[in-house]
Amino acid sequence: MKKDKGNPAEMGYRQLENRGISRRDFLKLCSATCLAFGLDLNLAPKMAEAAAAKITKKPVIWMQGQGCTGCSTSLLSSLNPGPEKILLELLSVRFHPTLMAAAGEQAVQSWEQCLEEGNYILIVEGSIPTADPRFCTVEGHSFEELVKKAAAKAEFVIAAGSCACYGGIPRAGITGAAGVQDVLKNAKVLNLPSCPVKPDRLIGSILYYLSHNELPRLDQDKRPVAYYRYTLHDSCFRRLHYEKGHFLTDWNNPETQDWCLYYKGCKGKETFTNCASYWWNDGVSFCGAVGSPCSGCSEPKFYDELAPLFSNPQEVK
Ligand code: SF4
Repeated sequence: MKKDKGNPAEMGYRQLENRGISRRDFLKLCSATCLAFGLDLNLAPKMAEAAAAKITKKPVIWMQGQGCTGCSTSLLSSLNPGPEKILLELLSVRFHPTLMAAAGEQAVQSWEQCLEEGNYILIVEGSIPTADPRFCTVEGHSFEELVKKAAAKAEFVIAAGSCACYGGIPRAGITGAAGVQDVLKNAKVLNLPSCPVKPDRLIGSILYYLSHNELPRLDQDKRPVAYYRYTLHDSCFRRLHYEKGHFLTDWNNPETQDWCLYYKGCKGKETFTNCASYWWNDGVSFCGAVGSPCSGCSEPKFYDELAPLFSNPQEVK
């Protein structure tokens, strides 16, 4: 069949192919997104077409506040085709403090120009200090002020990772670390909590938005319902042991290595996440699979209200 060279979707596919992402791989990514969002798989080609038509043109601004840069690192070690390829090479990422080649004046100019043009997706990584603006400043401006300025012309804002969503680990400190939703009261915010951000959720949410022209359905904590509908406990492979009362107490005992980690501090019963059903990094692993109890990192009360990690004070025997 003859391809329509002026068709935006065809042009998008060609640009994807030029960057090493085949039409088949892109379709696979859209199929996975359809599955995650509970959409009919037959809609995947339509989603791919709609997203391909826009993906190379949609500008993205990525800002980093108080965090460890783990969310950016997480993105760089993900699926094939990697979200890092899509985010860094195909979406028009106009500003990213650690990954962009430009620095200093040139980087600031790129940020300002993108703001002037508007209609971009703003991604925020890291929390926003509110106790004193000096805890995080860029070019002499407080991070809070810069996020507010960037959000004003954004189509919507993605809070990537626990720190950006609810303050995360920095909230336990003295900086008054807050999440994006606390600072941007009236903005359209989509939260993707976990420490770090889960790459397939980030790219899936963007694909959904590009193909539907709206955000996916969110829960009361502004998380896409598709990814945070059930608790980890609901789909954990250790669940049968929990029901039988088999609890791991000694990590050095190979006979109990698959037993429930509840008494090692697992917060999976109160943590809404799909980690156990969609393992990280293209199905390589997740915390529970390597013997680590769930820390509850996708919950608003992570970290301070769920600490300490390795014990469950109310339940430890
Ligand atoms: Fe539930 Fe955690 Fe035990 Fe898994 S390890 S069954 S999530 S308590």
